[in-house]
Amino acid sequence: MRQSNLSANDERILEVLRRSTQPLSAHAILAEARAPQIRAAMQVYRSLAKLERRDLVHRVEALSAYVTCTGDEGERHRPGFSICRSCGTVAEFEDERVTRIAAQAAEPGFAVEDCRWRYSAAALLASGARTRTVAA
Ligand SMILES: [Zn+2]
Repeated sequence: MRQSNLSANDERILEVLRRSTQPLSAHAILAEARAPQIRAAMQVYRSLAKLERRDLVHRVEALSAYVTCTGDEGERHRPGFSICRSCGTVAEFEDERVTRIAAQAAEPGFAVEDCRWRYSAAALLASGARTRTVAA
């Protein structure tokens, strides 16, 4: 599906991420894109920044890699990610508490740049469910 105001490079990078079963670094995207007009990492970063602003992709900070958004299209949100420490499977989730915390932090005049917490997880292949352990 063609997104409005996306360049051919943006579309190609989005397609690479949609086809990938794992999060990809900008350099992996560059290698995978194999498009003659995408020759430098800076072009990939520029497109990724644009796609992130539209919530079409997210940067998974813990992995320094990118995934496509699995949330509702066109809706701004602050997702969290479960990352399997064994197989690298990443699942996006949303929690209204994160949105509330960010809103409360912004009230006295702060621009929240990042809001995250960390836990350890392992994907359960048979059920597709996730274990969750809160780190101390
Ligand atoms: Zn999302």
